[in-house]
Amino acid sequence: MSGKIFVISGPSGVGKTTLIRKTLENLDSIYYSISATTRPPGKGEVEGRDYYFISEEEFDRLVESDAFLEWENVYGNRYGTLKSEMEKAIMLGKDALLELDVKGALMVKSKIKDAVLIFIKPPSIEDLEKRRSERMRGEENIEARSSLAPVEIKQGERFFDFIIINDEVERAAGELEAILKGEKKKQ
Ligand code: 5GP
Repeated sequence: MSGKIFVISGPSGVGKTTLIRKTLENLDSIYYSISATTRPPGKGEVEGRDYYFISEEEFDRLVESDAFLEWENVYGNRYGTLKSEMEKAIMLGKDALLELDVKGALMVKSKIKDAVLIFIKPPSIEDLEKRRSERMRGEENIEARSSLAPVEIKQGERFFDFIIINDEVERAAGELEAILKGEKKKQ
């Protein structure tokens, strides 16, 4: 039997990665799917842990060989979920957790009906802007990341199965853990 697919989305700077790391520390039953991207590695990012950092040509080749479950252009770079990552999760007997943009999440849902979509929301746009100005110096395509946030939040509220407000990371991680465990029980 194949595992469940969880997809987490949220505007850039909302703190998704920290939240996911914290939650997965306590959950051995979930495999974090590593995406391929054409964007260059950021500070502290590790090849094969955060992403597979690949060239435009390599990305083209993967698209042509139908290696992606989905891929999107996000904030000016390409990102894609590899089918091989889903196979890895199944081989390990685990559920898969994907961190995708909203379009990618909806694409996954259209292909896999029982995928569970979880949206991470900031307490307010002002809070998001504050975090961004503190944390995101030197980030790729800051303008696009910032201007898309209200649209992403609207879509998240409309189409996602769960919404978590990331007001406080410990609390939000507890909520995420409860959702992941709760959905597992339903299988
Ligand atoms: P970042 O550059 O901040 O790591 O990621 C930018 C955006 O791309 C985030 O919203 C992230 O969730 C999304 N993303 C990362 N990997 C994938 C992927 O494989 N597919 C899609 N559609 N979005 C992704």
